[in-house]
Amino acid sequence: MTKKIDVADIFGSLVFNDATMRERLPKQIYKELKQTIATGGELDSHVAEVVANAMKDWAVEKGVTHYTHWFQPLTGITAEKHDAFINPSEDGGVILEFSGKELIKGEPDGSSFPSGGLRATFEARGYTAWDCTSPAFIHESPSGTNVLCIPTIFCSYTGEALDKKTPLLRSIEAVSEQALRLIRAFGDTEAKKIITSVGPEQEYFLVDKDTYNQREDLFFAGRTLFGAPAPKGQELDDHYFGSVKERVSAYMNDLNEELWKLGVSAKTQHNEAAPAQHELAPIYNTTNIATDHNQLIMETMKKVALRHNLVCLLHEKPFAGINGSGKHNNWSLSTDTGVNLLDPGITPHQNKRFLLILSAVLKAVDEYAPLLRESAANPGNDQRLGGYEAPPAIISVFLGEQLEDVLSQLCEKGEATHSKMGSKLDVGVSTVPSFVMDATDRNRTSPFAFTGNKFEFRMVGSTASIADSSTVINTIVAETFRQAADILEASDDPVMAAHDLTKKWISEHMRVIYNGNGYSQEWVEEAERRGLPNITNMVDALECLTEESTIELFEKHKVLTRIELNSRQEVGYETYSKAINIEARTMIDMARKQIIPAVIRYTTTVAQSIAAVKSVGADASVQEASLAEISKHLVALNTALTKLERAVDEAASIKNSKDQAIAYRDEVLTTMSEVRTPADALEMLVDKNVWPFPTYADLLFNV
Ligand code: ADP
Ligand code: MG
Repeated sequence: MTKKIDVADIFGSLVFNDATMRERLPKQIYKELKQTIATGGELDSHVAEVVANAMKDWAVEKGVTHYTHWFQPLTGITAEKHDAFINPSEDGGVILEFSGKELIKGEPDGSSFPSGGLRATFEARGYTAWDCTSPAFIHESPSGTNVLCIPTIFCSYTGEALDKKTPLLRSIEAVSEQALRLIRAFGDTEAKKIITSVGPEQEYFLVDKDTYNQREDLFFAGRTLFGAPAPKGQELDDHYFGSVKERVSAYMNDLNEELWKLGVSAKTQHNEAAPAQHELAPIYNTTNIATDHNQLIMETMKKVALRHNLVCLLHEKPFAGINGSGKHNNWSLSTDTGVNLLDPGITPHQNKRFLLILSAVLKAVDEYAPLLRESAANPGNDQRLGGYEAPPAIISVFLGEQLEDVLSQLCEKGEATHSKMGSKLDVGVSTVPSFVMDATDRNRTSPFAFTGNKFEFRMVGSTASIADSSTVINTIVAETFRQAADILEASDDPVMAAHDLTKKWISEHMRVIYNGNGYSQEWVEEAERRGLPNITNMVDALECLTEESTIELFEKHKVLTRIELNSRQEVGYETYSKAINIEARTMIDMARKQIIPAVIRYTTTVAQSIAAVKSVGADASVQEASLAEISKHLVALNTALTKLERAVDEAASIKNSKDQAIAYRDEVLTTMSEVRTPADALEMLVDKNVWPFPTYADLLFNV
């Protein structure tokens, strides 16, 4: 029997959320805190004091003993350092205390986090500061410490951002400021703030833990570095949306329960395209909270899996030859009065404000395509993008039939006079009611697709924090909104000015619109003709972070400084090199200590068999052919391996981080494929019982 979950009762039970605050804080304090959350500004120290105390009391009642400033350094995952609430009392005992100061500010000695040269180890000071726009929550550990987690930002002694959240929060303010100017020019006087929202869909794989434990590559690198294809892949499409197996369903059940307690609105779950692949999507939230929640989703996915003797793989490409995992960043903008600015309405051709915003997004995506591409760059995604059923590394926008038609009317006739309407869908079965379809179909191959009232950025990798991509989208859009607002504010007839500007921008940026199959080779060629960048790897993608136009953009909107951008690029090169270095060394380890010895043992057996068979005068030609074939691949494997060992040593000794990353990409990664090919061929030739680790078939089909 599955256990019964009272969803309404447990939802948010581990969160110091609005309801809890209202219940536990004095009215005036609650009002002041809400005011700061809504409009920003500094929090009064008295307010912080009262909030801290209420938070502590609430947490202690739930069995919490420690608190932590929870932050998101440039590793892309979260960090925490626990402090107990205890303070010595005069009688030699302890009292539980948590001050306003401790809530607002922390000083972790986080000198070992990547900073790209921003901090030397001897200047260890870093600060964490409370971000009251994301609620505190409890990390529950059934047999360990329960910890109150306070979402914070993390910066250096000199104020530079050392994390993913600081620029994100800055970009949220930047886009709000510029979007507000824009809607003011259209006569909206009510809205006080523009809110960006994100709904990140998370893909993942589940494998059996015992099987996983026998694969060093999964353990160290998160992806398989060897593995011949299983006889069956995903070609039958029988896993996608298929009925969920009981073991996986039990996992999903526990996962949902944990997430609901944390206030994460886990909503959709299903099997994905590849065998052993699944997806979870929450209901969208403000970008800030959605970013925190996505981190919690990833952590909880891994944690809960272990309880079921499973391992959750979040890597972008755990297995060659089948789908990888992404994270769709669904992004939208709305006013604090509840109007979605990306909602075209029923007759988009009449919605001048929407059309201007749309053209501003198109312009931003086209002009800053390399930045957007960079925001989705990590070593794992290099394996996924442009590969098996994944968006290519080319940025393009899908708008759909209806909007594309409105835009062509505007460009060709100077005026859009009508919008295509959805027709009635009649399936020809009398018992099935017919209904009006959307005016536009979806396109699942576009990296930046308009989906009704939001854009879906599908390039992001499954391990990535959504902070990076959201920061870039917010900032590039803030910039084109700024340009539009400048023009509209200076005009006597802003609506006419908007109309003209929309036409101009659409015709200038038409090239970024593509409604066809983004997975096809034709598109790669067509994109090249259009002059759209195709940046295939992370090392090349990092380049644009320090270009003058990037620095100018980010500094203008106070999102990142030149120094911060330099440091992020540096961290990117280092991260890349480290990731490939681990992969290469894992490969060497597996090949030298597992594959080669196993194959040698096997060839000995075959050789003995040949001698024995021949001694009785029988035909040993099959054994001889097999041995010759195996020996050929064994020699190739050994040669490639020696080359890889040399390439890794050489790359590791390079001092300049960019040169080093280039060496890892051009020398090490390429040689890794040379090692894999003969090894995978050997897997197909030797006795399954002697192959030293589980195969793709064992991993993908045994849960
Ligand atoms: P798909 O067809 O792309 O799988 P889903 O219904 O699964 O679509 O939705 C994808 C995500 O988009 C969900 O997380 C959903 O909450 C989110 N979403 C819906 N509306 C908005 C919005 N206005 N802003 C941001 N995300 C949104
Ligand atoms: Mg989707």
